[in-house]
Amino acid sequence: DMKQIALYGKGGIGKSTTSANLSAALGETGLDILQIGCDPKHDSTRMLMHGAWIPTVLDLVRERGDAAIATDDVVFNGYAGVRCVEAGGPEPGIGCAGRGIIATFQLLERLGALNGDVIVYDVLGDVVCGGFAMPMREGYAEEVYLITSGELMSLYAANNIAKAIARLAKRSRQTCALAGVICNSKNMEGEEDLVREFAARINSAMVAYIPRSRTVTLAELNRQTVMEYAPESEQAGVYRRLAEDIMKNTRTSIPTPLEIDELEELARRFAQV
Ligand code: ADP
Ligand code: SF4
Ligand code: MG
Repeated sequence: DMKQIALYGKGGIGKSTTSANLSAALGETGLDILQIGCDPKHDSTRMLMHGAWIPTVLDLVRERGDAAIATDDVVFNGYAGVRCVEAGGPEPGIGCAGRGIIATFQLLERLGALNGDVIVYDVLGDVVCGGFAMPMREGYAEEVYLITSGELMSLYAANNIAKAIARLAKRSRQTCALAGVICNSKNMEGEEDLVREFAARINSAMVAYIPRSRTVTLAELNRQTVMEYAPESEQAGVYRRLAEDIMKNTRTSIPTPLEIDELEELARRFAQV
């Protein structure tokens, strides 16, 4: 039984770092993991690949067309056996990133490579347009995790993604649901409580609190995941626990997004303004 999870969040919030360490932690337990980067930045799997930029599906499709692409051209073996794919980005000024995501899923399905014990989708959530909502709309991302810090802008993005899930839940063939909120800390005062309260208010739960850590920075400078660079570190323990909790988690919900005023009021209360 394949598990398909998606991490959605604002650009720069830590989606790729968290996804890659999650995948690595899962891979280390012997599970077959496929991580698909669905951010035009196409660096989702880079630390799993020791800093290499793997070719993106969208670039290859543009260069030679869908039919001439084989599995080995787009699926790369990374740390802990994690299979890595990058959807890629549009041509600046003209293309659509959502197209790349669709093209990626179609290609992987044709190649019979959209499989494994767990598929981890790392998806940009700044704009929840039809393109970036595609993994949820088409039934790929079954369990959605919102990743946010206590910063208003990342909560705002998380809330927007919650809106998309709530809207899609009204459609009958839709199978995606909110599985939880992950707090990736920016070291703000009251942040953990704020994100926990935000999660509760949107009818979900905070499933993990990930501390801001210098180990993450050092691992990145060494072009590795934390799991590989510092397996004995506290931060590696945090990602290992996240992996366990996600595998155990059976609680999903249809979110109840907040109004902007409510969101701001919440952020103000915890910042004690
Ligand atoms: P996204 O994929 O959401 O755009 P990234 O995963 O690329 O974000 O993270 C952005 C930056 O933040 C990276 O330099 C990363 O190393 C750093 N970062 C992410 N999470 C943490 C953390 N828990 N502690 C310290 N740095 C972090
Ligand atoms: Fe960009 Fe989304 Fe519009 Fe595509 S659908 S062009 S990804 S905003
Ligand atoms: Mg990223």
